[in-house]
Amino acid sequence: MGYGIIEWICVTIIVMKCPVDNTELKLKTQEKAFGYCCSHCDGVLIDSKGVKEFKHNFNTNILEKSFNNIKVKSSEYYCPSCSENMEYSDIGDMEVLICKKCTSAFF
Ligand SMILES: [Zn+2]
Ligand SMILES: [Zn+2]
Repeated sequence: MGYGIIEWICVTIIVMKCPVDNTELKLKTQEKAFGYCCSHCDGVLIDSKGVKEFKHNFNTNILEKSFNNIKVKSSEYYCPSCSENMEYSDIGDMEVLICKKCTSAFF
């Protein structure tokens, strides 16, 4: 047995769906970043680990900004990672859906 079965369980649970259109998200890795991509609306979900790496790798605090933004609007969407209600954060040139509970961002 060993660890094989544990790995299998983890992989099965981590199937995430797009908060907007419910399409299954595919984990994509690039040289600089990784995110869960939606093939339907081209959205990308970045989890808390990815948010930290994003800042470091792209040298921008745009995602931190979206979390610290006080101008947030409620949305009808739910976080694919923890099922919490997500909020719209308007950071000027773009609108990001954020989950404050697990610090995931979708844009
Ligand atoms: Zn989508
Ligand atoms: Zn969440």
